Amino acid sequence: MSISLLGAAEIRALAEQLDVHPAKSLGQNFVIDANTCQKIVRLAVISQGDHVVEIGPGLGSLTLALLQATNKVTAIEIDERLAKQLPITAKEHGVPDGNLQIMNQDALQVFDIPDNPTKLVANLPYNVSVPVLLNFLERFPSITSGVVMVQTEVAERLAAKPGSKTYGVPSAKAAWWSDMILADSVSRSVFWPVPNVDSSLVKFVRHAPLGDESLRRRTFELIDRAFGQRRKMLRAIYADIYGGSAAAETALLSAGVEPTTRGESLSVERFAAIAKQLDRR
Ligand code: SAM
Repeated sequence: MSISLLGAAEIRALAEQLDVHPAKSLGQNFVIDANTCQKIVRLAVISQGDHVVEIGPGLGSLTLALLQATNKVTAIEIDERLAKQLPITAKEHGVPDGNLQIMNQDALQVFDIPDNPTKLVANLPYNVSVPVLLNFLERFPSITSGVVMVQTEVAERLAAKPGSKTYGVPSAKAAWWSDMILADSVSRSVFWPVPNVDSSLVKFVRHAPLGDESLRRRTFELIDRAFGQRRKMLRAIYADIYGGSAAAETALLSAGVEPTTRGESLSVERFAAIAKQLDRR
């Protein structure tokens, strides 16, 4: 039996039946357009061997499109009513038993997913999109690529390169694990309720690690500090961790970074090079 997708009328009827009034606090804007779901799945290039993790499946529109492409999806949903309904909807739409696992949990609190997921595909809840994405990249190294739908402003920040106006903490941190590509924009009209922000798709592909966990932590601390005081020069910002501005200057020069530079022009590789100098104080 083939798997059928959800349409706009069915999504509204399901919400009514469950007495779900989409909650802004949970970023509940449901995709009511099957073409958009299929487009996301195509962009994620999923094959039958993939174990896809979806965060926030909601009423299941993207989940069913994912299950057309692979026989293994784990969906993590915080809202109990939605999590309980999802297996029923899946069965009614032709999903074979065992192909969909549901975890009724806050994605931020998920540290373990059975059977190493290989891809992450999600229309992320907007209020937690950046921490959820960064946490999943950190906690699940088996995830090699994925596609996420986020607020356009966030998508631009995630994919920004050093020196651009939108480059900041999310850009530098996401780049530790992955290449982030701004893939497409999504019309507001595909959502119910219609959100008051624009949305875009970001595709990510994991690259080789830039260092071990200890180096990552030190690098992230340097990134947080650099963007916490955006207008200051790095020599001044790092003076206290390197034991004075002269020592900070030496560390920066050894890492090949001009001490008068500001964080907004540095790639994550440069931040990591500075962090390596912390070992040699
Ligand atoms: N995937 C569905 C779609 O495209 O129609 C729903 C997407 S909606 C933008 C976000 C979903 O994430 C909602 O179902 C919401 O209940 C869920 N959610 C919100 N915060 C969450 C969290 N911390 N952990 C897991 N799910 C969450």
